[in-house]
Amino acid sequence: MTARILAVDDIATNLRLLEAKLQAEYYEVLLASSGPEALHIAFTQLPDVILLDVMMPGMDGYEVCRALKADPRTQHIPVVMITALTDTVERVRGLEAGADDFLSKPVDNATLFARLRALLRVKQVQDAWRLRTETVRELGIESGAEPTPSVEGARALVLGADADEAQRVREALLADGFLVYPVQTAEEALRRLSQGDLDVALLALGTDPSEVLRLASRLRAQNATRDLPVILLADAQQKEEVLRGFDLGANDHCFRPLDPNELRARARNQVRRKRYQERLRADLDRSLELAVTDQLTGLRNRRYVRRHLDSLLRTENAAVLILDIDKFKSINDTYGHNMGDAALREVAERLREQLRAADVVARYGGEEFLAVLAGAEAPEAMRVAERLRATVAAKPVTAEGHSIPVTLSIGVAVGKAGTPADRLIGAADAALYRAKRDGRNRAYLATEEEMERAAAE
Ligand code: GH3
Ligand code: MG
Ligand code: MG
Repeated sequence: MTARILAVDDIATNLRLLEAKLQAEYYEVLLASSGPEALHIAFTQLPDVILLDVMMPGMDGYEVCRALKADPRTQHIPVVMITALTDTVERVRGLEAGADDFLSKPVDNATLFARLRALLRVKQVQDAWRLRTETVRELGIESGAEPTPSVEGARALVLGADADEAQRVREALLADGFLVYPVQTAEEALRRLSQGDLDVALLALGTDPSEVLRLASRLRAQNATRDLPVILLADAQQKEEVLRGFDLGANDHCFRPLDPNELRARARNQVRRKRYQERLRADLDRSLELAVTDQLTGLRNRRYVRRHLDSLLRTENAAVLILDIDKFKSINDTYGHNMGDAALREVAERLREQLRAADVVARYGGEEFLAVLAGAEAPEAMRVAERLRATVAAKPVTAEGHSIPVTLSIGVAVGKAGTPADRLIGAADAALYRAKRDGRNRAYLATEEEMERAAAE
């Protein structure tokens, strides 16, 4: 996987060393020798991972990390702090600044590359979602707020090496408002996690690490747990297993003796990352929803219903109803445009209530609606049309202190699978025109002749 890594260190020899290592593994490398320079490059070049020295004159690594995590352009970029300081307090400080991991100087190659692979794997998934979200945003669809993920109420599964360890991990996480689910065996963990409602899994490597590593790779393979963050808990001498774990799909690790603050900070960062990803996904769903929805009425829009009708008619019979509000212009003229809008919303609501979930009703034009009934023959389509007409005519629309009678004229056409959508719409339109001419507030089925005329057009 080719990726761009930004390496930051105030000492030139350290930078050159890192550069050589990374290039030997075919990573593209960007270099910065101070905090401000690092921020500038990060904001303009958007690297895939940032390796960040902690101790630098002026702006130190913590400060740089906080600035990166506070900016929407860079907050999703993984940051690995590189430090000579090995004490837990320093590590926790970095994790709290939003760092994704720590490596100690001198940097061990196997660890560095295993971490990079794991971080890049996650980032790739995230980038794919970001791209899709941005694409729909470019279509002119309003974007959601920037994510501000919190970890309140996050659900953590804990598989401890023994009851004692499970208890200590549990206590550490409870202090942060996590809900903790302890389990005894890898089998139980898999069963519980497969339900898909957990936010993070902390898995201890006990005397038989292979069992837990198998679990980690199973979690990556199945849909319900593919994006679940996994943190391994291990002895310092289990480094080999931890590195293998990263390649199999673990996201982070914590070495024994477990420090509660460090454990919490790592769990927090993983949960934030997961929630950020969920936000992207929800944003995308919402944007797609907006792209097919009419803003005034909440019904489907013209673009959507056309597509729907085209694909439906490929395999099924369908009925098309065009519903047009009678003398709508006079509502606007008499009561104002806002009242007109309120009437449109109310009519839309009544139409929606009267149709089945499988039917699609859309706002097709200004005061014109189009309903598509899948599989409907003429008698059924006419029953529905009559019901819609009667429902709208039954009681006046009330809004803004006015109470106004509203009626619909409806044209209906039915076609077998394979009929072109334009022909059905043309025939329904002709029937609608006839309904208007005959006095409005009525539903007409397109005649044979109207169908043939629409076919000829
Ligand atoms: P007919 O019975 O023949 O259908 O008469 P009509 O007045 O309904 O038809 P016409 O096409 O002459 O007028 C439609 C009006 O709908 C004109 C336009 O100002 C109004 N209109 C279109 N879109 C909107 C909208 O989004 N809001 C409001 N308030 N009015 C709209
Ligand atoms: Mg330094
Ligand atoms: Mg009208």
